[in-house]
Amino acid sequence: MSSRSSKLFVISGPSGAGKGTLVARVRGRLPHLGLTVSATTRAPRAGEVDGETYHFLSDAEFTRRIDAGEFLEWAQVHDHRYGTLASEVDRNLSAGRSLILEIDVQGALAVRERFPDAVLIFIEPPSMKVLRARLIGRGSETDESLSLRLADAERECALASAYDVRIVNDDLDRATDELIRVLTSYERY
Ligand code: ADP
Ligand code: 5GP
Repeated sequence: MSSRSSKLFVISGPSGAGKGTLVARVRGRLPHLGLTVSATTRAPRAGEVDGETYHFLSDAEFTRRIDAGEFLEWAQVHDHRYGTLASEVDRNLSAGRSLILEIDVQGALAVRERFPDAVLIFIEPPSMKVLRARLIGRGSETDESLSLRLADAERECALASAYDVRIVNDDLDRATDELIRVLTSYERY
């Protein structure tokens, strides 16, 4: 029997790079992996479920939780606040489960401070042109939020060198296989 150690994986990358798509596929094939549900002040998109996609909070409730010390990390991303609830991480790690945090670059670097053994994985789009096409294809953005995400993408990609692993999400099947190989190899350490 192969032995496995529980690991904290952090996955970042610009909006539209395909993080959510890749994580959903990987979890289908590696069901032992936990995923934290972050909190956000942004409004739900069509099909997003409160408590599953995110905990959708009002600005006042988000601030209350910051003041109560409930966040492991939180950051302003694009035009809203997003944060990882410490309780979500503790619940998984204390059960000995490996866990994925899908969070932005500021959050990733804050998590590394708290958990130096965390494995930071950056998902890159093949190009900015493809990224733009994916964001438009997702149908989730207004002109304004699209421009904001593309401008933020340049800044985020500039920090990719701080990550342990970089994966280009070109072909979805290939990128999924690569991510699975990375996750399972770190769990075997
Ligand atoms: P993120 O979570 O990084 O914001 P999503 O997972 O929502 O990104 O993906 C953005 C859009 O791109 C979605 O419409 C998704 O179906 C599509 N997509 C993701 N990966 C690929 C890929 N490898 N090739 C083509 N389209 C993709
Ligand atoms: P979206 O609005 O597209 O769901 O997410 C926008 C960005 O917020 C993504 O880059 C995503 O990784 C980031 N994000 C989601 N949850 C968290 C979180 O808990 N903390 C931080 N720092 N970023 C998050």
